[in-house]
Amino acid sequence: MKKQFQDPLSKIREIVLSKIPEDVTVTRINFEGSKLAIYVKKPEVLLIDKSYIISDIVENMKRRIVVRSDPSVRASKEEVKAVISQVIPEEANVENLVFDDVLGEVIIEAKKTGLAIGKDGALLQEILRKTKWIPRVLRTPSTPSKIIANIRHVLYSDTKERERALREDGERIFRPLVFPVDEVLLVPLGGFREVGRSAILVKTKESSILVDCGINPGASKPNQVFPYLDFDGLDLDTLDAVVVTHSHLDHCGAIPLLYKYGYRGPVYCSEPALSLMVLAQLDYLDVAMKEGVIPPYTQRDVREMILHTVTLRYGYVVDIAPDIKLTLWNAGHILGSSIAHIHIGEGHYNVVITGDFKYGKTMLLDPSSINFPRIEALVMESTYGGEEDVMPPRSEVEISLISTVNETIEKGGKVLIPTPAIGRGQEIMIVLDSYMRKNLLKEVPVYIDGMLNEATAIHTAYPEYLSQELRDLILREDVNVFQSERFTSVSNPNQRLEIAESEPSIILAPSGMMEGGPVLEYFRLMAEDPKNSLIFVSYQIEGTLGRRIKNGLREVPLMFKDGKVDVIKVGMDVKSIEGFSGHSDRRQLLSYVKRLSPRPKMVIICHGEAQKTQNLSSAVSHVFKLPAIAPRNLESIRLR
Ligand SMILES: [Zn+2]
Repeated sequence: MKKQFQDPLSKIREIVLSKIPEDVTVTRINFEGSKLAIYVKKPEVLLIDKSYIISDIVENMKRRIVVRSDPSVRASKEEVKAVISQVIPEEANVENLVFDDVLGEVIIEAKKTGLAIGKDGALLQEILRKTKWIPRVLRTPSTPSKIIANIRHVLYSDTKERERALREDGERIFRPLVFPVDEVLLVPLGGFREVGRSAILVKTKESSILVDCGINPGASKPNQVFPYLDFDGLDLDTLDAVVVTHSHLDHCGAIPLLYKYGYRGPVYCSEPALSLMVLAQLDYLDVAMKEGVIPPYTQRDVREMILHTVTLRYGYVVDIAPDIKLTLWNAGHILGSSIAHIHIGEGHYNVVITGDFKYGKTMLLDPSSINFPRIEALVMESTYGGEEDVMPPRSEVEISLISTVNETIEKGGKVLIPTPAIGRGQEIMIVLDSYMRKNLLKEVPVYIDGMLNEATAIHTAYPEYLSQELRDLILREDVNVFQSERFTSVSNPNQRLEIAESEPSIILAPSGMMEGGPVLEYFRLMAEDPKNSLIFVSYQIEGTLGRRIKNGLREVPLMFKDGKVDVIKVGMDVKSIEGFSGHSDRRQLLSYVKRLSPRPKMVIICHGEAQKTQNLSSAVSHVFKLPAIAPRNLESIRLR
């Protein structure tokens, strides 16, 4: 028994000290999340001159390592600033330097990151040699983003707390394994046989992790808003990790609630997912306040979540519990959306959880990943899993949008598109811009309103997560598709009246289902004029105003800020164009199961209306002769 309580670091220390030359001077070794941090007085030896030493230790211990410099050898901040301005060329557009005193990193925020890094990292090496600070380059969004600035501020102003959180995470991740890895349980806590409040608990005897924790924005009963967080097997004190597949509220809206109730472990997601998630959560709080509803958590809980979030690149394998490894892969749904590959034990069991995913190309993103090292169970969404959910080909969908817009403009009307701020909004912007560039769409101003602006600014910070074509345009040809001169951002609400009354134009405004946001103001101003058009481009949930107008409602009572209720007569043309969705349609879902490599041994269907989940599950078992089920919430499944 005694062995179990041995300090897990003592063995590691022994190996590290035996491999690192004495004159490099190791001063400290500790866990930093899933990595091992080694503090030394000569970091340049391990990072540049003799980097094989670290590779050798990694190979030996199967642990990721990060080299840090001992505080005593770091140059003063003034010296570092001088060195950086001398080493990095002006064209790199360095906009800000942030010093992380705890980890000894200097964060260089630049517009042109490639120029700041130099060929093969040459410039960063020079900075490291001269200052003993570890330089790290971050891209400044080409459109300023308040959210990204905010997150960076939280992460770099409270580095002591963050370092402590990472150290504790590491100690938990590398605790000695007490129980054998012979059982894997999957517990649906929300989002099964329904859309909304997604949450899946994966448990072994040793550990437990939660994948997604969303809210159901369309819930009609208060007890259906959140997942079953009171489930007996979910203990926030011992929960090892939370994984976020993407930043729509039905997947991440309840994460700050976990911190409110005392969870202090890590959240794993991609870097853009963190930014968009914070945007969505803060907007959720803002909307609640405006409606006079007491929100379930506060900005403080969101801040706590940011401090504990670890962002991962696609394809990067990370230990998140003693017996669980996680890898995120592109899901093709929205910027930074991920499919989670969960590897349990040493090759013991592998679960792939798709989250929302698009197995098809969009202008914004590449199709979802389909190859994994191993898969036993596939957990798949089914938003469009019904037999009738077959969308027209993408080219037809675009032509239908473009011709509707052209017709409206020819009549001298204006086009109003209720636009979801995260995902579809940017897709539609790029479609409009590209058709105007090809002269297939009449050149008129495109107005971008509300939260859509901030979400778009966040897109400009992460070009490497966009589709191949957009990446090439942005990184190679320096064309910023989101900053086309055709787009006008509406920053002042007073402009709306003028826009609605002036020349023909296209207006993109949230919310996508007309449940609030600037779209309602435009709608009030534009609805009566038969020359105008209202075009829906996204899924309208049952019960929302968007759905009712789409279904034929032509007298719309709307309440405005002053409490006055106006009945708006809809004279404008109402159209709905299906097929811009970020979800896979029925055919894409089935072909995903077919082409998935390797072939899973079982399929679990979730995230769809009850009938669609059952229908898709029988189709999968019938067509592919694979065991497939569509469990209800709380119906645990023993995977092994
Ligand atoms: Zn989604």
